[in-house]
Amino acid sequence: MATIIEYTDQKRPANHYPKQIISPLIPGPCCCSKMEQIGAEQHEEGWSFIYRRCKKCGFAVRHVTARDPQVFVKKGSRFDHRELVGFHG
Ligand SMILES: [Zn+2]
Repeated sequence: MATIIEYTDQKRPANHYPKQIISPLIPGPCCCSKMEQIGAEQHEEGWSFIYRRCKKCGFAVRHVTARDPQVFVKKGSRFDHRELVGFHG
């Protein structure tokens, strides 16, 4: 799951959503109350998430809103199967 947020103190905070968000490394006290959602909810590899960004300092986070357990069951079962084959084989 790739992120579009670049955390750096070398560049000024910027919102180039959906391509990139430049965020400071550390959130400030303003970030508790000034966070706003950027764009629509994204879905990737069974995860649902939104980007949120502080209106004041530009600190950004990716906030996971949900994940689809089916994706993990499918990925996990492949390994389980291989282990079982080895165990019995
Ligand atoms: Zn802030």
